[in-house]
Amino acid sequence: MKKLIVIKYGELSTKKDNINFFLKTLKNNIDYALKNINHEIKYDHGRMYIDVAESDLETSVDVLKKVFGIHEIVIGYIIDTTDFDEIKANLEILVDEEEFSTFKVETKRVNKDYPLTSPEISKQLGAVILKKKKIVSVDVHEPEIVVNVEIRLTETLMYLKGIPGCGGYPVSTLGKGLLMLSGGIDSPVAGYLAMKRGVKLECLYFESPPHTSEAAKEKVMDLAKVLSKYNNDIKVHIINFTKIQEEILKNIPHEYLITIMRRMMYRISEEISRKVNAKIIVNGESIGQVASQTLTSMNAINRVVKMPVIRPVACLDKLEIIDISKKIGTYEISIRPFEDCCTIFVPKHPVINPSAELCEEYEKLIPYEEYIRETVRNHEVIKLSSIEGKYQDLL
Ligand code: ATP
Ligand code: MG
Repeated sequence: MKKLIVIKYGELSTKKDNINFFLKTLKNNIDYALKNINHEIKYDHGRMYIDVAESDLETSVDVLKKVFGIHEIVIGYIIDTTDFDEIKANLEILVDEEEFSTFKVETKRVNKDYPLTSPEISKQLGAVILKKKKIVSVDVHEPEIVVNVEIRLTETLMYLKGIPGCGGYPVSTLGKGLLMLSGGIDSPVAGYLAMKRGVKLECLYFESPPHTSEAAKEKVMDLAKVLSKYNNDIKVHIINFTKIQEEILKNIPHEYLITIMRRMMYRISEEISRKVNAKIIVNGESIGQVASQTLTSMNAINRVVKMPVIRPVACLDKLEIIDISKKIGTYEISIRPFEDCCTIFVPKHPVINPSAELCEEYEKLIPYEEYIRETVRNHEVIKLSSIEGKYQDLL
């Protein structure tokens, strides 16, 4: 018996006219993720089959657990025959290694001339399993394991339990988004959830040297690196925010510092989105978490851009966000204690219900359009690949 990885699709199998585009993208993403492993991929509308050397099986499955669009990963067993006695003998070996108490057999025949029908095959193979395992029973409604048998033209594929994949749509199928990535807990989780819906991300980080350190930037790069595992590779745009922040600090009443700073961040995010052809801005705002995330604040801040701003964690509790960050491996990085550009300029009493009109008045005090143009023009871009493990400076 030869082992083969079988991929079951998630929600993308509900796509009709454009399913081929979704499957092709999934295949390309898997090709990228398995770049360092010799592999061959075949697929139809029902399943994807990945052939790798047995010694690469475990590593490949680990890599595939981070590819969106996969609902389940199953190790299948191929035999080079459709002979029914051979199928029975090999199935006995397979179930012998497995612990379960209830099961059902599901059969698919590609070869419609096969002497037995699918229900007949399932019934006879079920009897083989009952005889071999003795203490197990058949449960067609809620079986602990489903024994899948696919009889093809010249070979037979059998598989039992699967490992959950991460679901969602293949990254890139929905186009590009720009993630406002800080060193906090929320934004990497927001990025993960956006990628899960098929959005290919580029990231944007605002730094304020010398008020923020190199270590703070490294932290953001490390977070981006984790995200790149789901995104094939990731570009991080680094915006020097020092001048704008210092001007805000000098000219704007303190309770409005954060509101106006965030309006500037949004304007810059929209500018970069346009440049890189991103269709949405994604960020880690969560309703009510801080003064700048009350509904009135969000309204006063959001109105400076036309582009949709998606906030995947808007309605999650902090503890729920933390749970996801632990699961995806960003939590330990996010809690490293480095200053972020927001935390440095936090006023004692930020306004909770800012007025958008007042923001506009205050903003007349600084020639921010010129500052934005300048910092966007000179910004640095770093491309991180999930494969090489190195930072690559693009400019
Ligand atoms: P925390 O997990 O501590 O809440 P946070 O990154 O969510 O961290 P907030 O002040 O709540 O911090 O910021 C809200 C959102 O604004 C962030 O989730 C992020 O999307 C964006 N943001 C904040 N600071 C930056 C920054 N320096 N660079 C890029 N985006 C930022
Ligand atoms: Mg937050």
